[in-house]
Amino acid sequence: MKRCLKCIMPDTAKGIKLDEKGLCQLCRDYKEYVPKGEKKLREDIKDYIDPKAEFNCIVPVSGGRDSSYALYYVKEVLGLKPLAVHNDNDFETEVATNNLKAITKAVNVPLLRIQSKNHITKTIIAEKFKMNAPFGPGLVVEQTCEACKYGFESASYNTARQKGIKVIFWGDSLDESTVPYHSLYAHYTPSKWKRLVSPNALSLFKYKKYYNQMKQEYGPCSPAGLKEIHLFDYILWDQRVIVDTIQKKMGWSVPKTSATTWRTDCSIVPLVNYLTEKACGVSKLEIGFSNMVRSGKMDRDEALQSVEQIKNNTDVLKFKESLREMGISNKDINRVL
Ligand SMILES: [Zn+2]
Repeated sequence: MKRCLKCIMPDTAKGIKLDEKGLCQLCRDYKEYVPKGEKKLREDIKDYIDPKAEFNCIVPVSGGRDSSYALYYVKEVLGLKPLAVHNDNDFETEVATNNLKAITKAVNVPLLRIQSKNHITKTIIAEKFKMNAPFGPGLVVEQTCEACKYGFESASYNTARQKGIKVIFWGDSLDESTVPYHSLYAHYTPSKWKRLVSPNALSLFKYKKYYNQMKQEYGPCSPAGLKEIHLFDYILWDQRVIVDTIQKKMGWSVPKTSATTWRTDCSIVPLVNYLTEKACGVSKLEIGFSNMVRSGKMDRDEALQSVEQIKNNTDVLKFKESLREMGISNKDINRVL
């Protein structure tokens, strides 16, 4: 296996072609992103912030690294009065639970926790796994996080509207986005007909039923009337600064054995990471690390070491056990894993 000489993209990754200089397309087409800056951020939010309100913005937090920093920045740097909103997706890690307590206490921000009734997010993920299993790991992994995303977004939007808050600060960043990579190759989507004649067609109906239940419970997932700010469009995303700040000033931490500070908030991430590798020939974390190396925010050797460590820590038997606990049959597990 060869890797891109600039980032760490392997030539086993679907859609990746290394050129004669040993560079991948993502590196060849890379344009450095210049953040809009704090001044522009203050300008963009000023009409939406009520200085007299008890809370004048929402920061959705997962207990993970970047949203923790977003909370710090909004409270301590911008001096706003945030309400932290957290959606428990039924896969919250103990690390995330502890970090959520620590970070909100450190900056004295109340934490609103939301969770679906009867662990419906987990049920949806299980039915979706079953319904996509006959079509392989690519489709399974593409659609695994849908219900959690819906839960997080709608919980934030609807809380904002209920409380008369107009601004939401998201902690996502281009540096961790896997979208540019996934746009490099054609994705397979089965036709309706293929779905209906698949051995797991029943799960398609169950999935739709539970998803509709979730939508009713959470309410619409619409940002209408709200100002959404992606914080790292305005300020530099720098892993070192972020980790240093949240560790020192918020009491945020990850176990010493953790191969990365990224995505420690969800226990399904290792499975998603593994399935991405199975489907695409490159793991999800590897795609993220290659972004960070490309933009100069992570050392190449450090990224390679983390990738190696994550591979060594991968426990496929444990994945299978967790999937069986979710009610997924051995047949479907073996179709995907
Ligand atoms: Zn590259």
